[in-house]
Amino acid sequence: MSAAPLALRVPEMPGEPAHGTLMRLAARHRRPGDAAGFAADCGLSFRSLLRGGGADAVARLAGFDPLALGQRSPLVDASGRTVGLGGQRIALGDWSTTNRRWCPHCLADDARLALGRGLPTERLAHHRFWWDVKSVFGCAVHGVPLAQTCAACGRGPGWAGPVHRCPCGASLLSATEADGRRPSPADHYLAGRLTGIRSGTCLVDALTYREAVRALERLGLVATGRWSARKPRLGGSEAAACRDAGMGLLADRRHGLARALDQVLAEGRAREGRPGLIGSYGWIYELWIANLPDDEFGRMLKSALREHAVANGVIPERERALGGGPGGPLVDLATATSSLGMGHARARAILGRGGMLPDGIRRSVAFPIDGVGLTRLREALDRTTDAKGLRAILGVGKAQARRIVGAGLVPPVGSGPGGTAIRFEVAAAERFLRTLIEGVPVRRKLPHGSAMLAGACRSAGVPVEVACTGLREGDVRATGVAPGRLSLAAIMVRPADLRRLRKDDGLTVEEAAKALGVHHEAVRSLRRSGLLGRVRPGRRSLRRGEVDAFARRYMPASEAARLLGTSPKRATRLMAERQVAVAAGPPTCRQTFYLRADAQRQVLAVARP
Ligand SMILES: [Zn+2]
Ligand SMILES: [Zn+2]
Repeated sequence: MSAAPLALRVPEMPGEPAHGTLMRLAARHRRPGDAAGFAADCGLSFRSLLRGGGADAVARLAGFDPLALGQRSPLVDASGRTVGLGGQRIALGDWSTTNRRWCPHCLADDARLALGRGLPTERLAHHRFWWDVKSVFGCAVHGVPLAQTCAACGRGPGWAGPVHRCPCGASLLSATEADGRRPSPADHYLAGRLTGIRSGTCLVDALTYREAVRALERLGLVATGRWSARKPRLGGSEAAACRDAGMGLLADRRHGLARALDQVLAEGRAREGRPGLIGSYGWIYELWIANLPDDEFGRMLKSALREHAVANGVIPERERALGGGPGGPLVDLATATSSLGMGHARARAILGRGGMLPDGIRRSVAFPIDGVGLTRLREALDRTTDAKGLRAILGVGKAQARRIVGAGLVPPVGSGPGGTAIRFEVAAAERFLRTLIEGVPVRRKLPHGSAMLAGACRSAGVPVEVACTGLREGDVRATGVAPGRLSLAAIMVRPADLRRLRKDDGLTVEEAAKALGVHHEAVRSLRRSGLLGRVRPGRRSLRRGEVDAFARRYMPASEAARLLGTSPKRATRLMAERQVAVAAGPPTCRQTFYLRADAQRQVLAVARP
């Protein structure tokens, strides 16, 4: 149980988060490849560890310093959309444990260390918490891009463990030396911040981690010298290149920044864009620098841009822009409309309901609009989608989408900006999909006995929202997921598994006790302790699958006694002598239970001395 430290321990490794520790503990207990099962035996959910939190319980099990482990384990702040990790505030979208990443050279270093100490590799090979932070693209020690897929089988190794081995059996270590590659400037800086090293000389030091990443990427986009009305979106490796370019621009900001702005301005003019700051610098002015707060970083960029604009005749010296005037930057209605990327009528309606247009304004009259408010409104529109967009993300029809929303699986974000129809956060919908397939292998073919989710729901007579809830809660497990874009249509399940979710399939506590051959009071305490299923409301709330899973994993002392041909009391004493770990027992549970695998081994040893 989670209260006492385990007898078999692993050395504490710096940089390892709680989920990494659990993978090593599982291997230490001869359960490599079963981190989730091992966690469950310890009364923990590995799945929720991967979502952040629970470091305290892991620290107790491992005998680690809870403060230190908490510091290097993720703590999600859902409302702030950030993750606290390594003392930094990281954007929620910048942190992910969906696909495990690792540095093959770091793991090879661990293996050498283990060899030197005469330990097996899995004792010291450990996950680093910054491998889960996407803005750290490459290893800050070895300079190689972090790996995401196994070189042998081409799949992600997932989290089942051990850390240094893919489920296909291949090693995740690098066979060759890193031959002195240097980490990229951004990786060096960002990983340094996460591990508590600050250069103390960088202009983005004063920003939070999330803001610093954003600032570097935007500076990198400026460095490309391209003009654009909207901020270009970046893929993973493009973003990494931009962060490095951003570091470069910061290092040489007197000349580098001016040179980059020269190019942007030239391209803006070549497009015969409108004069003025927006026509000349596009999103760089309108959507970014104009809205920066008045801190050191904001002031530096505003004054650099202002200097450039004045020197190139974009604005007259006396114009009160970019730190020059009160009231903040303003844009007119036409610019606002095009900036929202929609038709005039719809943009006006949204702006009006958002309280950004004075009453009675006529189309022909240009009116100043608060640029900062506009940016916020646009970002909110970008992050959310309507019911149709949600259906496209989930890959289901109208009725199914409605039931999924109705079941609270993808909550709407109230009414949209400016009071438009109900909207959904894109990230929340995608996160929901990912929770259904955590650790599920990608398959090109349906495994035997499986069907695609929609068909499986039909043949099992289970509504899609019930199936999704079951997958999310771990009551059933997907058997595979098709390659390509993730949607509900890509998920493979066994209809036989789904059948277990049918309402009429529940057991009462008394029925479960009978099936397990134990006292019903014991069943109640096992449920409370989390060893037997989940606590749900209702009388028939135990699932047959949960009871079966419990019976497979644990053995009551009465059964051990029967196998040994002795009394339960004597069997309990024998097990204690042989140090078989008690999974549950007095005083919290009126009967004693052992891990079945462990108990069985000892029963055999006693039976045939
Ligand atoms: Zn490395
Ligand atoms: Zn593999």
